[in-house]
Amino acid sequence: MPLADRSTNFAVIAGAGPAGLTAALELLRRSDIKPLVFESDSQVGGISKTVNYRGNRMDLGGHRFFSKSDWVMRWWQEILPVAEGQTDPSKPLRINYQRQVRDLIPGALASSSSEAVMLVRERLSRIFYRRRYFDYPLKLNASTLQNMGIVETLRIGLSYSHAQIIQRSPENSLEDFFVNRFGERLYRTFFKDYTEKVWGVPCQEISAEWGAQRIKGLSVTKAITHAVASRFRSSADTSQKQTETSLIERFLYPKLGPGQMWEEVARKVTAAGGKIHLRHRVIGLERSDQDISAVIVKDETSGTVQTVPCVHFISTLPVRDLTAMLKPSDETVIRIADRLPYRDFMTAGLLLKKMISADPRAAPNGMPPDNWIYIQEPDVKIGRLQVFNNWSPALVADAETIWLGLEYFCREGDQLWSMHDSNFLDFAAGELEKIGMIDRRDVLDGTVVRVPKAYPAYFGEYRDFDKVRAYLDGFLNLYPVGRNGMHRYNNQDHSMLAANSAVNSILNSGKGKSDIWGINAEDDYHEEIEAVA
Ligand SMILES: Cc1cc2nc3c(=O)[nH]c(=O)nc-3n(C[C@H](O)[C@H](O)[C@H](O)COP(=O)(O)OP(=O)(O)OC[C@H]3O[C@@H](n4cnc5c(N)ncnc54)[C@H](O)[C@@H]3O)c2cc1C
Repeated sequence: MPLADRSTNFAVIAGAGPAGLTAALELLRRSDIKPLVFESDSQVGGISKTVNYRGNRMDLGGHRFFSKSDWVMRWWQEILPVAEGQTDPSKPLRINYQRQVRDLIPGALASSSSEAVMLVRERLSRIFYRRRYFDYPLKLNASTLQNMGIVETLRIGLSYSHAQIIQRSPENSLEDFFVNRFGERLYRTFFKDYTEKVWGVPCQEISAEWGAQRIKGLSVTKAITHAVASRFRSSADTSQKQTETSLIERFLYPKLGPGQMWEEVARKVTAAGGKIHLRHRVIGLERSDQDISAVIVKDETSGTVQTVPCVHFISTLPVRDLTAMLKPSDETVIRIADRLPYRDFMTAGLLLKKMISADPRAAPNGMPPDNWIYIQEPDVKIGRLQVFNNWSPALVADAETIWLGLEYFCREGDQLWSMHDSNFLDFAAGELEKIGMIDRRDVLDGTVVRVPKAYPAYFGEYRDFDKVRAYLDGFLNLYPVGRNGMHRYNNQDHSMLAANSAVNSILNSGKGKSDIWGINAEDDYHEEIEAVA
């Protein structure tokens, strides 16, 4: 059966992640254009999907729902309302994230017994280093000094003073950037290993500009001033107490993980007449000089390949793949797109009876109170540890168990990525045992999820990305949107805003197309992955 009905006005959308599904629903809400979505995975949600393993749900990366955009906040709440009991309906709901605070008037609240709801969660994440917990962001307080020891603290202080007197000049690399601001010792302690774990590239090979863009407003002097000033503040200072309370980060979170949002959206798309074909991979494009005329799609189950004509094409495909499918004649465009860097990601889901912890804040079964923990230990490869129970208890099938996500940054095809699942689970459990968090005999079950192209990276050939963008902009009915779709660190909200902008442009006969690239162009780094700062 042909995938598209030629008599209807439709848009082909590649990818059923947040960007693709937002575009699909907005087209249905605001026009008579029918979206035809092709998704290569067997489920919707893209990187924001929830993986269900025997009733235990995994969120790949930990997705906080927060946006500066009112449109996005309302959009989410229309799909999944906030559960009763999560907020006082007579007061605005205070959400804060990345030092931004906003009050929302929540829409209608849903019964707390309903599954289709959002929870309001408080964030706790700490750094695990030297087999101890440090505050995140790092604070110059008694507990940090105690954890570091007086000798190490003095060394860090001396090295910081040295860096203030003798600056590395010119400041070329990210290493220079860190050392000039924090001193060699602090850089080696808290920044070097983690940054290199995440990006797989030595800090000397990443540009200093990259750090300047992302690590704004962070200064040791400010931290010391703050620490000293707080010593002199009265503990009864209520305004300070209020500030501290407002600094507790709160975000919205679907009860069954982020994928629940996108499964609900997919249901609405289908109910309104849109079509979503899972396990259908876009493998090629037919084009003229200015237009995409057809999309070639492979059904991954049957192997059938079909050519689907298209009027509008919204692509959330990685820019590298999209460009290759367009077969540009310009060798430079081919080279840049082909070498765009990505970082991939793997998570081992481990189900445990109990954990080991000397932390007074841990539960009786040893489970830490954190949503996630940055693992800074240099003797293991694990980057972060998610404690899914603390995101939403509903992610865990049996409340007596602990459901963890052990996150590894890697490269598709490298040694970690290629490990057999059972070996990888064994290795991951061994790492947690090595740093004293578990006894591996308490592991009940486990699974592995691989996420290719989780991070579009901003180094290497990316510096010439504008040439690729200009080439893509030459196709009048092509709308590249989303995270890998634009090769940009988009969070869900940015991907949604870009998709909405594409829909605006389609409904405006192509006007305002360049607005898409304006989204998230100025925002600071969002996901807090590259440096514990
Ligand atoms: C570790 C981590 C933590 C994060 N934390 C947050 C957070 O706290 N808050 C937040 O808002 N965001 C967060 N994000 C970002 C969020 O995951 C993404 O912004 C969002 O999923 C991007 O949506 P998208 O639709 O643009 O792309 P994707 O989610 O990548 O979806 C693209 C879809 O296209 C499909 N596809 C690819 N190639 C083809 C093909 N050839 N044919 C058909 N389909 C194809 C893919 O299978 C995928 O489903 C995080 C991301 C990571 C990696």
